[in-house]
Amino acid sequence: MKKSFAAVQQQTETSIVFDTHPEVSIDLSLVEARLKQGYQKPFLLIDSNIIRNKARRFKTSMPRVRPHYAAKANPDPRVLKTLIEEGVGFEIASIAELDLLMSLGVPAAEIFYSNPMKSRAYIEYAAAKGVEWYVLDSIEELRKIVSIKPDAKLYLRIDTPNIGSDWPLAGKFGTHLVDVSEIIDEAVRLKADLAGVTFHVGSQCRNPQNWRVGIERAQTVFASMREAGLKPRLLNLGGGYPVRHVKPIPSIEVIAEVINEAIADLPEDIHVMAEPGRYLVSDSACFVCRVVGTATRNGKRWMYWDAGIFGGIIEVSEGLRYEILTQRNGSLIPWSVAGPTCDSVDVLMHDEMLPEDIQENDFIFIPNAGAYTTSYASNFNGFPLPDVVVI
Ligand SMILES: *Cc1c(COP(=O)(O)O)cnc(C)c1O
Repeated sequence: MKKSFAAVQQQTETSIVFDTHPEVSIDLSLVEARLKQGYQKPFLLIDSNIIRNKARRFKTSMPRVRPHYAAKANPDPRVLKTLIEEGVGFEIASIAELDLLMSLGVPAAEIFYSNPMKSRAYIEYAAAKGVEWYVLDSIEELRKIVSIKPDAKLYLRIDTPNIGSDWPLAGKFGTHLVDVSEIIDEAVRLKADLAGVTFHVGSQCRNPQNWRVGIERAQTVFASMREAGLKPRLLNLGGGYPVRHVKPIPSIEVIAEVINEAIADLPEDIHVMAEPGRYLVSDSACFVCRVVGTATRNGKRWMYWDAGIFGGIIEVSEGLRYEILTQRNGSLIPWSVAGPTCDSVDVLMHDEMLPEDIQENDFIFIPNAGAYTTSYASNFNGFPLPDVVVI
């Protein structure tokens, strides 16, 4: 295992071409126009045309891969409707997400239940609503699903390298290769329709080779499935497709080159899908908040925004660096930035270089913040949830 990881690492350093294609952001004049109507609280302004274009770009770069949007990235109904109109399917983790999608007219058959750990009650509910496909990554989950829905179509989530991802997920989910044969044998014994393989390379993944390794491992699992008498027909490439913030990224076209080559010799009867979340929505939106006040503490400059860790800007706590724009042009100095709550966790960044003349009531603009912001926000300490405005 260690050896193959090292090999992947080496390829990372030599073969990634970054920023080969222009990335997009919402036009800031749209944000300014919106602010002319007044400001009550933080908001996310979404340009749905960008979502449309991202969905089209994804499909064009990988014609064989059907995108199923990971609803958790931004479950706003207008976002979901835009993606429905673009012919995108969906991936869910809970029955609230299922209900939301079905209320918008998405057929249950288009919805994949990709959370590897589902409660019995949730599986029963999803089965009653007509969801056909369910993921699993353990023998216990296999038995649980089959005991509720014996004819469920099942896909196995396997472990794959998360090297070069901002949010490595490896460890929490994913069957290790040593445990695969036991699960396959149990599926055969239960007469279960174990028919697919999936993996997740980790969110905001900057290493296209992770998808190649995942696809190669999936092919090994397909071979074992066939040997056991199962009929594999689904390859689900998961999520992780990155978006541009401060660091360079491999464009979707560069990732697609790796994926298209790796799936080229898959049999025709294997349906290939993916679960982009961040990629489809992040670039479409700008998050707008405001400076509540500033302070100098022991010589250090602090500013406090009306949205922080609890107001939707939580991914900074896991190392994401956003681009931050203001309407000031003073010289840049290091600031500590915090949210409005009294929790010590609510600090967004230290030594962030921002204009020295920032003051109370200034607006803060965070481009490309359409994913994992409003969906994470809470009312902690009595501060309001951000608005979502869609144009
Ligand atoms: C969160 C998630 C995704 C989407 O991940 P992104 O990094 O936003 O693309 C896809 N599939 C599953 C199973 C997930 O949990």
